[in-house]
Amino acid sequence: ISKIAVLTSGGDAPGMNPCIRAVVRTAIYNKLEVVGVRQGYQGLIDNNMYDMQTRSVSNILNLGGTILKTARCLPFRTDEGMELAYNNIKAQGIDGLVVIGGDGTFTGALRFSKRFPDIAVMGVPGTIDNDLYGSTYTLGFDTATNTVIEAIDKIRDTADAHDRLFFIEVMGRDSGAIALRAGISCGAEAILLPERATAIDDLIESLKAGQFNKKSSSIVIVAEGDKTGGVYDLAERVRAQVKFYDIKVTILGHLQRGGSPSAFDRVLGSRLGFAAVNALLAGKSQMMVGLEANHIKLTTLEEALTQHTYKLEDDLMQMSEILSI
Ligand code: ATP
Repeated sequence: ISKIAVLTSGGDAPGMNPCIRAVVRTAIYNKLEVVGVRQGYQGLIDNNMYDMQTRSVSNILNLGGTILKTARCLPFRTDEGMELAYNNIKAQGIDGLVVIGGDGTFTGALRFSKRFPDIAVMGVPGTIDNDLYGSTYTLGFDTATNTVIEAIDKIRDTADAHDRLFFIEVMGRDSGAIALRAGISCGAEAILLPERATAIDDLIESLKAGQFNKKSSSIVIVAEGDKTGGVYDLAERVRAQVKFYDIKVTILGHLQRGGSPSAFDRVLGSRLGFAAVNALLAGKSQMMVGLEANHIKLTTLEEALTQHTYKLEDDLMQMSEILSI
């Protein structure tokens, strides 16, 4: 391998920049040339790439988002789009690709590399949803959870002052990973997750029990993928039966994606970027680098994709219910 390209794709996640920095510097340390691709797979198709040096990634460790920009690129899903990308890659003399993103990004990388096996691909799990098999944590999950906690702590202050019940929707797509961690960290009275059906009657009973136990506020965290019917509808249904609280709804939205990466995500991004380049140098392809039990682990993209959903930790859920009595 002599020249690699790095790109970020799909949803942005804090920690992508530390990872880009690690890829670039590990490559240069190993005498590889390295190219940054702008806007994910779109940049491969548009030939929107630039040579990167050690100084191209100075002072980016602390930046949220991604300096390479990201995109959702439809043309890359087509044979013609992939061929355009391949021709540009070949013209640049690139023989290895590091893709930082989620399962869609990995699906594209695997399809591409199966069609053009002379280009080695290595995936880095970058998504706040923490829903990829092969890494206990994905890049951005820790920062996003911390951002959520900071926001909920503030909401708790006002909830407490007014005897309010807040329904707070948090991100995570089909994964309840952020909701569960935030719920434990903020002492939520209830956590509604996509992985687990919640009976509305049980929720109301537990809110009534909280009031009986003289709670001055209640926080219910609702993961965006929860199937109870949407946070506003849920609040309406509870309002019909719970009269002792003033009920409010907050959707945290995109602020959860931004912000300076946490120490954890800076270290994780650095480790995964470093490992991705080393794996390419070792001749590996069609794999993902991840962190399991604090060790770098390689998983085939095939396996990562077939097993990709987040498995809810039932023990954490049970603990959270006991600790919020
Ligand atoms: P996140 O989990 O944060 O949404 P993601 O990587 O899953 O990240 P997607 O938008 O699903 O985000 O995928 C990113 C890009 O990967 C797509 O915009 C597209 O360019 C490419 N991609 C996704 N699926 C395929 C596919 N089946 N074939 C080729 N390319 C694909």
